[in-house]
Amino acid sequence: MPPNLRDKWGSKETWLRALYLRANLIWIFRQELVRLELDQLHWLGAILDDAYLTITTQANRHADNDEGFDACLEWVRNNIEQRIEMAPEDPELHRLLQLTEEAHPSDVIQEIFDKLAGSAQTIYRSGPRRKVRLLREWLNTHPVGSVRPGDFRDPYHVDALTNVRQQLSEIELRVHLDDFDAWSLLAIPALLTHELVCHAYASEDRDNQQSIWAEGVMDWTAVFFFEKWSRLLKLPGAIVKSRGDDLWVRRMAPTRYTGRVIADTLVDWLAAEPTIQSLDVAQVAAANFTLEVNGAVAPLWAKDALASRIATIWSDKPLQEAFRAWRTGAAPAAAMLS
Ligand SMILES: [Zn+2]
Repeated sequence: MPPNLRDKWGSKETWLRALYLRANLIWIFRQELVRLELDQLHWLGAILDDAYLTITTQANRHADNDEGFDACLEWVRNNIEQRIEMAPEDPELHRLLQLTEEAHPSDVIQEIFDKLAGSAQTIYRSGPRRKVRLLREWLNTHPVGSVRPGDFRDPYHVDALTNVRQQLSEIELRVHLDDFDAWSLLAIPALLTHELVCHAYASEDRDNQQSIWAEGVMDWTAVFFFEKWSRLLKLPGAIVKSRGDDLWVRRMAPTRYTGRVIADTLVDWLAAEPTIQSLDVAQVAAANFTLEVNGAVAPLWAKDALASRIATIWSDKPLQEAFRAWRTGAAPAAAMLS
């Protein structure tokens, strides 16, 4: 029997506190993460690894998150100061110490979610008016498993899914906390963007991981918005984007690939239209079209059938006319679903 959350962490509360503290710790040093990514740092990786271990062993001792944060911060400052005694002139250590002096606690993952959810709400003007909520759930191991013990398929120990109810979409961020580090945190915006754009406002009769519409065409739309949204967070946009793209490539399923190619086929066709003749305008039009269809109430099979049809739009004259009618406002996008 694999261990359950209680065996490993004692309680969900302790687990949530450890996640909160790890995310705060990475957040304190967020300005240094580009250097960490480019392998230009000597100390930060080891300091973070030591602190993760301390958080794991001490998370159940704190009365609340604030007390945990203060204890964690003091521990990290001591760790850096001890290293400075051995390397008094090291500029990296002094920069890291300075960052701890400016640190204050925040619910880092919730703030990332709130910012992205706010952006998603503005693009779904015509969709269903649902509330969205973030849940954090425990994973016993890496979400897509390991090649052999300790050798994981990708460095991102996070995954997400969405449960849609009538007026509420619950987005569940699933975390394998044992190995949750800076790269896992940096992959969260891409994961959440997929859930918010593809699923939170979708109006369909079912979920299906094999849907070329829901997981593929809409994933193209998620990437389209992620390009912009990844720059709006307080984390360094360049690596939020590069780690998000990397996560997407590493977890590329056939349906996702197929749907993205279909969306790009639509962009190609739109860009060649005499009334458009611009790649930028074609991409915006394709994104708006997918949002409108995604929010339209229809069975998922009908959306998948439309996606398949778009794959051959270059030879489908009635579909071309339907898109022209949609562009002029003569017909809604949902007219193509019947
Ligand atoms: Zn999905």
